[in-house]
Amino acid sequence: MDNKFKFNPYEALKSILEITSYHTGDEFIAKTAIEIKKLFQADLVYITKAIDYSPTTKVEVIYSTNTKIPKIIDLNGVPGKFVFDNKIIKIKEHVQYNFLDVINEKYESFYGIPITDGKNNCIGHIAIYSKKVRDLPEELNDIALIYSRKIERETRRIALEKENLLIRKQLEELTITDTLTTLYNRRYFVKICSDIFAQVKRASTQATLAYIDIDNFKSINDKFGHDGGDFVLKYFADILKEESRKGIDYIFRLGGEEFCIISLNTPLNYAYEYMERIMNLTSRKFLTTKFGKITLSIGLVEFNKDFNSYDEILNLADKKMYKAKKEGKNSIVK
Ligand code: GH3
Ligand code: MG
Ligand code: MG
Repeated sequence: MDNKFKFNPYEALKSILEITSYHTGDEFIAKTAIEIKKLFQADLVYITKAIDYSPTTKVEVIYSTNTKIPKIIDLNGVPGKFVFDNKIIKIKEHVQYNFLDVINEKYESFYGIPITDGKNNCIGHIAIYSKKVRDLPEELNDIALIYSRKIERETRRIALEKENLLIRKQLEELTITDTLTTLYNRRYFVKICSDIFAQVKRASTQATLAYIDIDNFKSINDKFGHDGGDFVLKYFADILKEESRKGIDYIFRLGGEEFCIISLNTPLNYAYEYMERIMNLTSRKFLTTKFGKITLSIGLVEFNKDFNSYDEILNLADKKMYKAKKEGKNSIVK
């Protein structure tokens, strides 16, 4: 059998350069595996990431040219195991492999290249299988290691990018969240309220705004201290969260003991019933605590095109809330 293998180093380097300049991320990994399969005239190539270390016993397949290869491979009894001693492993013929029955193929040769990090730890490998008996030339090692280094760089970059995205999301979350209650804050209220008002102007949605102020909150602080007051604010926020409908109600803490709910596509009488429910629930839930009866004053307004800006709606709701206060508190004015 002809097991002499011919390859053109110039073509190989050119292909590496092309992959790296045109592809990034998961696509880069996939293209690299496909190129390696071509270059090595192989029948199966997969790239892995170690799941555990010293010794590595399991790897995750991050890309395989055959989709039937399992996602997680146990290295026991697999030639790739020795690659994790940070060595290139070449098996010319009669390769033994325990999962090959899964894909129903018979491979003869194996070529395994470690992927190492900056500290020379083996963090994954490139596995190359051929159905032919193969005696690969030494020069191929250098090419293989270039591929391996490029994969390491790209996986590191992907991980960094993911981490940055997560941090950015957390930061965004922080800028729109009220720290005490974890409800949305006033800053986010301004954005959401003006966005919804713009939609109402285009007649593409309908919405109501409820301005809620806890009655006699100062006396709670006076009786139970600032921490007691904070507890009431948090507990009340939890009630609001529990009662809110996903994608319909947006709940905000505007500051102090003042809250706001914007409800989408909710007619005024429905919003009124919704507020009555919240008042009843609040008074019932607090009655079983040391804080006793807690009541609310609420101003309720429906968005419409005739307002000039979102803050006119907020001001009107605030005025109605004050009317509820003047009329003796514990009520809703619409
Ligand atoms: P009314 O029934 O008219 O609404 O009276 P009130 O006592 O609820 O309202 P007032 O505006 O007089 O008092 C609100 C108090 O809320 C004053 C302030 O010290 C307190 N407060 C504001 N922010 C916080 C906070 O984050 N935590 C606590 N515990 N208290 C706060
Ligand atoms: Mg107030
Ligand atoms: Mg108050």
